[in-house]
Amino acid sequence: MKRLYRNGQIASEDSPKLTAADVLVEDGRILGVGLRIQAEGAEVIDCTGRILLPALFDLHVHAREPGSENKETIATCAEAAINGGITGIVMQSNTSPAIDTSGLVRAVLDLGRKTKIAVHTAGAITKGRKSEELAPIGAMKAAGAIMITDNDVPVHNAQLLRIAMEYARNFDLPLASHCEVKELSAGGVMHEGSVSYSLGLGGIPACSEEICLERDLRLAQFTGARLHIQHVSTKIGINAIRRAKKDGVRVTCEVAPHHLLFDHTHVGSYDTNYKMNPPLRTPEDNAALLEALIDGTFDVITSDHAPHTEFEKNNDFASAPFGITGLETALPSLFDHFISKGVFGWDLIVKRYSAEPRRLFKFDPVPIQKGGTAEFIVFNPAATSTFTRDFMKSKSINTPFLNKTLQGLVERVIRNGEEILSR
Ligand SMILES: [Zn+2]
Repeated sequence: MKRLYRNGQIASEDSPKLTAADVLVEDGRILGVGLRIQAEGAEVIDCTGRILLPALFDLHVHAREPGSENKETIATCAEAAINGGITGIVMQSNTSPAIDTSGLVRAVLDLGRKTKIAVHTAGAITKGRKSEELAPIGAMKAAGAIMITDNDVPVHNAQLLRIAMEYARNFDLPLASHCEVKELSAGGVMHEGSVSYSLGLGGIPACSEEICLERDLRLAQFTGARLHIQHVSTKIGINAIRRAKKDGVRVTCEVAPHHLLFDHTHVGSYDTNYKMNPPLRTPEDNAALLEALIDGTFDVITSDHAPHTEFEKNNDFASAPFGITGLETALPSLFDHFISKGVFGWDLIVKRYSAEPRRLFKFDPVPIQKGGTAEFIVFNPAATSTFTRDFMKSKSINTPFLNKTLQGLVERVIRNGEEILSR
C-alpha cells in the first residue's frame, strides 16, 4: 500500500530550515521525497501546514512492568509513547523486581516485541539496585540490555562503581548515572533554597547532585567507560560536564523538559505534579540548561516518564512519590515553549530527541530521505493538544499539564509501513 504525504514541511537535524516536499511511502520505506511527486494508486494525505519529522527515541522511560502494572505496563507505555511521537524507548531497571538478570531482560524485551514500537531495556548495575554486588552485566548484554543503570539511585560505593565502569567499558555498554549523595539528600522532597525554607519542606541541595556527578566524571575519566548522566538539573552540574567533554571524558548527558520549563517556585501550591528527582531548581539553573541544550552540551532530550497512581500523587507533598509522566507531553511542550517562540528550531529536536539518542546505542537514525525507513511524525503546529484523561494513553495522569492545552498536535505516527497513530 502506497501513501503520499502531500505538501508537508520536512525537518532534519542538519538545518533549522524546513523543506517543502511530498513524501511517498511504500512497505515501510520512503520511495521518494520531492516536489509534486506523482504516484498512481497512492492514498494521498494532505500535509499542508504540517511538519514532518523523524520519530523520536526516548532513552529514559519507566515502564513499571514488572511489579507496578497499576501505574503502567509495557503495552500502555508504548501507547503513550506513540501518542507523543516516540517510536523507540529504553526502559529503566527500577521495576520490582529490578531488571538485574538476563532472564528479566529477555522477559521485558519479549513483552516489548508485542507493541508497535521498539522497546529496549537497561539492566541494573548492581543486584536489586542495592549498591552491594554487581549484577551479571555480560549476561544481561547478551540477553539484549543496551545500557546499565541503577537509576533513581546512584551506586553509593565508589569502588563498586569503578569496577562496574570497567565492565561497562569492556562490554561497550553506556553506564547511566542518577547523581545524588544520599546523606545530602536525606529527607529532601524539593530543591533546597528560598522556596523550601518558606514552605517548610525538606530540601535536596544542588551540591548533592553535583558532588556525585563530579565523582562519576572522574571515574569515567579514570576507567575510560562511556558514562551517561541522567537528567542534569543544575548550572554547576552542566558546566562540569562541559569541562569534562573538553578534557576528553567519554560522557554524554540528557535534559528533561520539566527541568527547562519549570522551577522551584512551581512547588508553591504543593502540587505533587511538580515533585520529581532531581527536583525543579532555580530560574538561573533553567537558563543554564537551556543554553547547554542550544550549544550542544546536552546530547539528548529524554522525558524521564515516571507514572504514579493518582492515589499516591494525591498524598501530601512530602509523602508523594517523585516523578511525572512525560512521553505524551514532551514534544508539544517543547514546541509550545521554545520552537513556536523562535528560541530554537526543529533541527534541535530532530538531533537531540531522534538522531543522537539512536546513535548513542549505535542504531541508525531515521531521517526522512529517499530510500530510508519510514519512521516519522506528522505534527500540526496550528492545532492544539489538551491533556485530558481521555487524550492520554498512559495509565497514569501525574503530569503538570493535566487538563492544560499546549500549542501543537502529533497527528500521525508512521512506523514499519503502518500509521500507528492517525487523528
Ligand atoms: Zn528516571
